[in-house]
Amino acid sequence: MTHRKSWAEPWKIKMVEHLTMTSREDRIKAIEEAGYNTFLLRSDDVYIDLLTDSGTNAMSDRQWSGMMLGDEAYAGSRNFYHLEDAIREHYSYKHIIPTHQGRGAEHMMSQILIKDGDYLPGNMYFTTTRLHQELAGGTFVDVIIDDAHDTESDHPFKGNVSLEKLEDLINKVGAEKIPYVCLATAVNMAGGQPISMGNLKEVRELTNKHGIDIVHDMTRVAENAWLIKEREPGYADKSVKEIVFEICSLTDHATMSAKKDPLVNIGGFMATNDEDVYRKAQNMVVVYEGLHTYGGMAGRDMEALAIGIAESVQDDHMRSRVGQTQYLGEKLIKYGVPIVNPIGSHGVFLDAKKFLPHLSQDVFPAQTLAAEIYIESGVRSMERGIVSAGRNKETGDHNRPNLELVRLTLPRRVYTQAHMDVVAESIADVYDRRAEITGLKFTYEPEYLRFFQARFEPIA
Ligand SMILES: *Cc1c(COP(=O)(O)O)cnc(C)c1O
Repeated sequence: MTHRKSWAEPWKIKMVEHLTMTSREDRIKAIEEAGYNTFLLRSDDVYIDLLTDSGTNAMSDRQWSGMMLGDEAYAGSRNFYHLEDAIREHYSYKHIIPTHQGRGAEHMMSQILIKDGDYLPGNMYFTTTRLHQELAGGTFVDVIIDDAHDTESDHPFKGNVSLEKLEDLINKVGAEKIPYVCLATAVNMAGGQPISMGNLKEVRELTNKHGIDIVHDMTRVAENAWLIKEREPGYADKSVKEIVFEICSLTDHATMSAKKDPLVNIGGFMATNDEDVYRKAQNMVVVYEGLHTYGGMAGRDMEALAIGIAESVQDDHMRSRVGQTQYLGEKLIKYGVPIVNPIGSHGVFLDAKKFLPHLSQDVFPAQTLAAEIYIESGVRSMERGIVSAGRNKETGDHNRPNLELVRLTLPRRVYTQAHMDVVAESIADVYDRRAEITGLKFTYEPEYLRFFQARFEPIA
């Protein structure tokens, strides 16, 4: 018998960053000033920041050393070639164009591939991805399996595409109106849920038959690979590195937000195997991002990214990365707090509809819950529900997603197990007083990506 089951980290701490400890009164004042929107809090008023895993990664000593090797030449920086090699070796794509972050790549990809009136099927939407598709004249169509919209289903691959939904769309609008399927790995909006290799292969077969490309939103491909290793028959003995390569090989183009998986604080890239798309992107990048060998990134940042990519596909890293998320999720389940099942890769998602069943979606239960959690303990989370879903282009009404969630996202290599205990315990305290919680209403609603800057006040 073995007692050893810990997911403990394959690193130790060399430098620490002090956190602000605040009182309940401080926090009530801060959240009022922030219009009950956790995006508008100052980070100095936050104790444990689980707003996002985007750009919040702790870099390794090797990455910091790499920063000193930055070659800040305007053209042809050596760090660009290192990055290009790292992407070819780990992600298989032939051509790469660095961008300032993921949405820069999405902008170019959408403008190059989408024509007015096109349809873009995807395994659930992502905020910036869908907006760029719409700005290019396209219409997003959700083709994820129904299980993804059901917080109770414990389907191991909730990121899977429903082939039936995809085929229906192809039959309805015609393959020539579908430039590509947008496939996300470790689907963010579904709660960090993976797509299986089996499903990906089936999607590849179907799209090949109709001459449709696949664009891979690869922000969390290594996390997806870890969950394939753990859950999909036949993959237990493959390394994360091998699985990541196999996933990427099944797709044609990719957009990457390097602020996630690859362990840096800023950056991204667009990648493609298609010469024509590459040429068009090289033309566009100089207008919107920078020269094609830096695309908005400093040389030192490209170096840190090249090193981060290699670190991100290590099995030991992923075991502790996903292990920490599972630890937090299991602890919340023990307290009876309703969360999305199965626990995802990069965060734990609270089911606000079940947490606050007395609130209608029109008073923003997830937005309300995120504010309450902050007031309780200084833990910052974010809304992923009706506020994030925005309004319908035609009717002007709110889009009403099935999922009304609060996302607790774990920065990579940043917080300890004791921090996770504080998070779970304070959410359990909010859960105990849930009946007293009332909803919010808008005092300011921005036109684009409203969740970032919207302001609210409590309903009396
Ligand atoms: C973060 C993210 C993006 C956008 O990337 P940015 O670097 O924030 O511009 C796109 N898709 C997914 C799934 C993401 O998580």
